[in-house]
Amino acid sequence: MALIHLFRKCNQRCVFCSYPEEGGADGRATLKGWLKEIAAMPPGLVQISGGEPLLAPAGEVCSLLAAVKKLGRTAELQTNAIAAAGMRSEDLNRIVNALNAARGYLNVNFPAAAAALDLKITRARGAFRKRLAGVERLIKAGARVRLTHVISSLNYRQLPDFAAFAAKKLKGVSWTQFSYIKGIGRAEGSLFLPRYAEVRPYLEKALFVCEKNGMHCEVDHIPPCFLGGFYRLNVDIVKMRDGVRGPHMEEKVRVPACRGCRFYALCPGPRKDYIAVHGTL
Ligand code: SF4
Repeated sequence: MALIHLFRKCNQRCVFCSYPEEGGADGRATLKGWLKEIAAMPPGLVQISGGEPLLAPAGEVCSLLAAVKKLGRTAELQTNAIAAAGMRSEDLNRIVNALNAARGYLNVNFPAAAAALDLKITRARGAFRKRLAGVERLIKAGARVRLTHVISSLNYRQLPDFAAFAAKKLKGVSWTQFSYIKGIGRAEGSLFLPRYAEVRPYLEKALFVCEKNGMHCEVDHIPPCFLGGFYRLNVDIVKMRDGVRGPHMEEKVRVPACRGCRFYALCPGPRKDYIAVHGTL
């Protein structure tokens, strides 16, 4: 898997952003530079991130997607979808077509089911309404959309509401990932990391709502021991079973409390940054 950052520019200031704040040297590469970066990274999926990639000129995004396709790799375009709400139809369609040609999909950061909570998390006024409109436009244009709902102390109690909202308002979404906040970047060592045990009842309710509504979903960065009967939705289980190497091996570590756990062989343990904040599971 390869991850490239187009630039730092972004139209949100999410409390959980793991990439450096805007303002520093951007070090923006050319298409040739990005391709060199991709070639030097492990094979598989190419994640195109930012900042916010949809703030780049459409032609540039399309060239990059075409190059990913030429390499025979799959593209994941990570976005908050705000820019998609106001983009010219011609540009939006070009990007969706180029993405589909690269067998790709959009990974949309969708952190809340209501405008007030969205504002608290993204610190971008009007973002919720635009994001919803952007996702609707992207789906209508034929894109495959995955939602990423980052779980933090600001929104974990609303997880069932988010699941109900997605079931009702975002029907064309391909799948949803509930992803526990990473304690890096802006969230390093922060109070935004709730304990897994606090999150568990709300997350289980949300996953039940998803199941009831036939929504495909998965969970990342919350170990299977905190997922009850939904433990199979943890994304590391398959990677561990198949011996796939990747960031999960570096970011996570088993702790003394893991001894004797029935998931021991299939779980790399909790995130190291979680343990840095909470000390134990
Ligand atoms: S190995 Fe540790 S973190 Fe993973 S499921 Fe078991 S107890 Fe939980």
